[in-house]
Amino acid sequence: MDHLFFGSMMMIAVIAAITVGVAIYFIPSVIAYSRSARNFLAIFLLNLFLGWSLLGWLGSLIWALLDEKRGSQQGSVAPSAPVAAPLPSPPTTATTVVAYCSRCGQTVAPDDRYCAHCGHGLP
Ligand SMILES: [Zn+2]
Repeated sequence: MDHLFFGSMMMIAVIAAITVGVAIYFIPSVIAYSRSARNFLAIFLLNLFLGWSLLGWLGSLIWALLDEKRGSQQGSVAPSAPVAAPLPSPPTTATTVVAYCSRCGQTVAPDDRYCAHCGHGLP
């Protein structure tokens, strides 16, 4: 009875140890995923295949922490764009009234009765 109890406790301890071990093993991948890292897949593969070695595990962990987030480069560039926008041109006020001949298209004085270029009658 005691032996069976001890065995089941050992089983639970081993399962718990494996679970904790796997959780620690994949910490770099979890960090990369939570940060939505740009190179998540590469970090995960490095973590998966080289995580057993301390160097590979630390490398994938550092990579996960240093990797840029998706779209962070666009976000840093966008706010500076409106500064380069050209100044609005001053409103064009019609100081000189210009009329156009309906036949030849030349500019004529608005009070002229006939076009100075072609003699066309103006309204
Ligand atoms: Zn004309």
